[in-house]
Amino acid sequence: MTTSTSPTSSSSPLAERLQTVRAGIADAARAAGRSPEELTTIVVTKFHPASLVRELASLGVQDVGENRHQEAQAKAAELSDLDLRWHFVGQLQSKKARQVRAYADVIHSIDRSSLVEALRSDEGDIDCFVQLNLTTDAARGGVADRDLEPLVERILETPGLRLLGVMAVAPIDEEPARAFERVRAASERVTSLAPDATKISAGMSQDYREAIAAGATHLRIGTAITGKRPEQG
Ligand SMILES: *Cc1c(COP(=O)(O)O)cnc(C)c1O
Repeated sequence: MTTSTSPTSSSSPLAERLQTVRAGIADAARAAGRSPEELTTIVVTKFHPASLVRELASLGVQDVGENRHQEAQAKAAELSDLDLRWHFVGQLQSKKARQVRAYADVIHSIDRSSLVEALRSDEGDIDCFVQLNLTTDAARGGVADRDLEPLVERILETPGLRLLGVMAVAPIDEEPARAFERVRAASERVTSLAPDATKISAGMSQDYREAIAAGATHLRIGTAITGKRPEQG
């Protein structure tokens, strides 16, 4: 568990932010009557150099997230000496799917059947989430609500994929608590088809407390831990 290690002597700004977020997660879990141990915190390190990921690993972080294939691939290769779990959280082109499969441990962004097909494999399973689009903007990634069940069925019948559950990003123009209630409802629809797919990947820097209250199991936290992203202005 990433939440179990507390930095003792270290006092870098990164270590302090990590500690603050870990404490915030533990508080939110207790407030929701949940155990922090049931939560996986993924530190989203996109746009940051591999050196920052290495520092995070030295602080006990085990799960890191990236959203762009080329950047993720390069970092995973550079940091292959570390025992990290790589989570791919961004939109994924089908033609890049097999390459992502090669270094990622978990893919959070399965949102269409062509991508499921591209990830088909007879050589072992990769963990994945089906991403639900909570907006009406198809460009934002994620499957439309009405297409959730067919996509889940497609994943279940395709060798090489192990469905963990549902993933979503809260829309900017909706209360996170409301958005995450929709995710929780979608999760129940998923588990009625796939009883083991109970996980929920939801919650980012600004809304992880609401996500924890709504049952999230996998938090994807970037800037609250890493600080501002270098290339994003
Ligand atoms: C960047 C990103 C995050 C982290 O966002 P922060 O607001 O920096 O915490 C989480 N999930 C996805 C899919 C992302 O692209």
